[in-house]
Amino acid sequence: MSLVEQMDTVTDAAAGTVDRHATTQTFESTNPASGAVVGVFPVHDTGAVTETVERARPAAARWAELGFDGRRERLAAYRGYLARRMNELADLVHRENGKPHADAILEITLAVEHLAWAGSHARKALGSRRVRTGLLAANHAAYLEYQPLGVVGVIGPWNYPVFTPMGSIAYALAAGNAVVFKPSEHTPAVGAWLAAAWRAAVPDCADAFQVVTGFGETGAALCRAGVGKLAFTGSAPTGRKVMAACAETLTPVLMELGGKDAMIVDDDADVVAAADAAVWGAMSNAGQTCIGIERVYATSAVYDRFVAEVTAQVRKLRPGSDDEATYGPMTMASQGDIVRRHVSDAAASGRVVRGEADPALFPNENYLAPAVLLDVPDSSPAICEETFGPTLSITRVRDAEEALERANATSYGLAGSVFTRSKARGLDLARRMRSGMTSVNSVLTFASVPALPFGGVGESGFGRIHGEDGLKEFTRAKAITRQKYALPVNLMSFGRPASATDAVARVMGMIHGRHR
Ligand code: NAD
Repeated sequence: MSLVEQMDTVTDAAAGTVDRHATTQTFESTNPASGAVVGVFPVHDTGAVTETVERARPAAARWAELGFDGRRERLAAYRGYLARRMNELADLVHRENGKPHADAILEITLAVEHLAWAGSHARKALGSRRVRTGLLAANHAAYLEYQPLGVVGVIGPWNYPVFTPMGSIAYALAAGNAVVFKPSEHTPAVGAWLAAAWRAAVPDCADAFQVVTGFGETGAALCRAGVGKLAFTGSAPTGRKVMAACAETLTPVLMELGGKDAMIVDDDADVVAAADAAVWGAMSNAGQTCIGIERVYATSAVYDRFVAEVTAQVRKLRPGSDDEATYGPMTMASQGDIVRRHVSDAAASGRVVRGEADPALFPNENYLAPAVLLDVPDSSPAICEETFGPTLSITRVRDAEEALERANATSYGLAGSVFTRSKARGLDLARRMRSGMTSVNSVLTFASVPALPFGGVGESGFGRIHGEDGLKEFTRAKAITRQKYALPVNLMSFGRPASATDAVARVMGMIHGRHR
C-alpha cells in the first residue's frame, strides 16, 4: 500500500502524531488545479505541539547517541525510501502544490542529493578535531567539536514543499538533532508524507522526525515550545513574527525569506542562453520560486535581441495541469491577486508582453498567463516587491555597472545571476552582487550543489542551510582543553610569581612588538 493510501484518514495524516492528541479541529488541503480535497489534517494547538516537542527530546538524545555512522546509515535508508517512491511523492506534490509532475521529480531529486551529502559529510564538518593551542596554552591539547542543539523546529512554505524544508531537516538531522516540522497549511499532505516515510524507513528512531499541522498559530506554538533552534522559511513579514515569538525564550532562529532576484545580461553574453535561463528562472513553478529571477537588467548592446528571444520563448509557455503544461496554477489563490496587481500597474507605466495561451481557456482563475514587463519604473511594485508569479521585468541599462547598481538597489538579497562570456567579469560581478548566492551563465545552480551554503542577506534573511555552514547552523560549537602536563609556573593561579608576568610582557614585546 502506498503512503498516500495509508494517509487516508485524519488519524494517519500527521504521521503518527495525531493519534496521540485529542485534536478536534481539522482543515482541508485542496488541489489548486481542481479544488478537490487532497487531505484532511488536524490543527495542532499549543498543547499538541508542546507534547510533540517533548516526545522528540528523548528521541533527540537517542539519535545523537547513534553518532555520525549510525545517523549516516539511517539517513541513507530514508533517502533510499524517498528515491524508490519518487513518483508517488511527485504525484502528491503535483496534486497539492499544482506544479508539473516532472518539476516535482526535479525537486525531490535535489532533496535526495542534499540528504546524501549531509549524511556523508557531517563527521568531517562537525566531528571532534584538535586545534593548535598557541603559546599561552602550549602544555594543553585543544579540541573543537560541533554538538547538536536537541530538538530543532522547522517551519516551511508551500512552493517547494519537499526541497525547501529538507534543506533544514536533512542538515539538522545529520548534525544529530531531532526535528519537529510544521509544513505550510497549503501543503500539509506532503509534510505528513515525508514524516510517515521517515517512520517507515527509520523505525528505531521514528520520533526523531515528526510533523505538526495547522496554520500560523501552530507555527507560533512551535516557536514557543522550547526548541533548540527554529529554522523558518517563508515571507519576511511572517519571519518578523517568528523572530518576535522566539525572542520570548531567546530561541535562536534561522531566517530563509523572500527575494527579488536579478539577472545581469552583459554586452558579451550568450543572449539565447540568457533568455532561456531567465524564462525558466522566472516562470517555472508558476514563478513561485524564492530564488526565481524577477528582474533582468540587460545592457543596450543586447537588450533588443534579449527581449525578442525572451518574448519568443514566453509565447510558447502554457499553464495547465495536464502533461503538456509548462507550469501549474498558483498554489495560493490570494497570490494571484498580487501578481495581477503588479502586472496591471506595470501595464500602466511600461509595456507588457503576455504569452499566447488564451486565458479564457484556462481551467480556473488560479492559472495566470506569463507576462514580460518592459522598462517599468523602478518605483513600481513589480520592481520593488516580491511578485511570486510568472512574470519577468526587463530593463535596459547602459552597461553592467549600472545593471549591478540597480540589481543591488533592493532591500532583498537572496540570489541572482550574471551572463557574460568573460570569466573574470562574471566572477567579479557575482562577488559584488548583494546576495547570498549568484550563478554565472545559469540560474539557480547553486541550489543543486550540496557543498554550497544557501541563504540571503538583508530582508532575505540570515543564517545558512546546505553545505558545511548548513550543518554547523544546527549545532553549537564546543571548545575543550585538556592539560597534558603542568608547567613550573602557572600564569592562571594566584600562586604565580610577580616576575612571571614581566617575563611574559618581554616575550610578547619580542614576538609582536616589532610589527608596525
Ligand atoms: P508565509 O510566511 O506565509 O508562511 C510560511 C510558514 O509560516 C507557513 O508554514 C505558515 O503557516 C507559517 N506561519 C504563518 N504565520 C506564522 C506565525 N505567526 N508564527 C509561526 N509560523 C507562522 O510564506 P509562504 O507563503 O508559505 O511562502 C512563500 C514565501 O516564502 C515567499 O516569500 C518566498 O520567497 C519564501 N521562500 C523563501 C525560501 C528561502 O529559502 N529563502 C524558500 C522558499 C520560499
